[in-house]
Amino acid sequence: MSTILEPGQIEASAVMPPFLHLPPANLFALRAARLEYLAEGNALGDYLRLIAQLCHVQQQLVDNPPGGLPVAEERQRLCISHGLPPLAADSLVREGPWLVWLQALLMHLDSEASGALGEALQALRDSDDSQRKGWGIALLGGQYDAVPAALVPFIGAALQAAWASWLLALPATELKPADSLAQCPACGSPAMAGVVRNRGKHNGLRYLACSLCACEWHVVRVKCVYCESSKDLRYSSLEDDRHAPGKAPLRAECCPGCESYLKQNYLENDAAAEPLADDLASLALDIRLDEEGFHRLAPNLMLAPG
Ligand code: FE
Ligand code: FE
Repeated sequence: MSTILEPGQIEASAVMPPFLHLPPANLFALRAARLEYLAEGNALGDYLRLIAQLCHVQQQLVDNPPGGLPVAEERQRLCISHGLPPLAADSLVREGPWLVWLQALLMHLDSEASGALGEALQALRDSDDSQRKGWGIALLGGQYDAVPAALVPFIGAALQAAWASWLLALPATELKPADSLAQCPACGSPAMAGVVRNRGKHNGLRYLACSLCACEWHVVRVKCVYCESSKDLRYSSLEDDRHAPGKAPLRAECCPGCESYLKQNYLENDAAAEPLADDLASLALDIRLDEEGFHRLAPNLMLAPG
């Protein structure tokens, strides 16, 4: 894509950070590799390996999409020009164009699986589209109680693969900030985590990673993404002898004002970090922050809370 800049825009682009950081086309393969790496020596290793398997399937689906863009290009452009998310999760999850992605995901998964995994897959295979759609609506609505916990990663994986594929195929990506800092400009879903990037024009800037479509958007650092306060924020990390204090590659930005927090990956301290994988591998930090009275508002679609 080439764009001719007017003189004023050239000056503006010199000081304005790029608003978006789009995921690469192999995002799920990278995520799978990171999960497999983090699984070594992690108390939740088996779970992380299971999610890695799901990520490999997600990548296969993105490489060979079972369905096209759910919204006509013209409507996408109209949404973008009006500052609306072109892949609005709340309406598309109801319209159901993601259901073919769930069906394709099930086709890729081992039908011989046994134990709890086999039971979960069987329950999904036995369900019809209206049941599946209800689970998807509940999951994206944050109503985890309404979805059997064992089914969450599979439904979440199908939803993520569909939305990430649609994001990568968007006809235009000049998106505008959403109403809230923590809301994705592409699909309107809540952020899963922050990433302080370490390369090129994004160097040193914080981006929030979408829990659904994996789009990343810029939000200034040292500001609570929920209440927008910068007062008395503190940064919590897990004890780790490998890293000097203040150099931990994963730190949670904790806001005493609204008592919430968001995890952040600092790529200068670990360039291979990946928001979803590193989030799942650091659940011990969530447990500690919960005990300290902080609330987690960021969903991870691969895990039912609690
Ligand atoms: Fe999104
Ligand atoms: Fe806050």
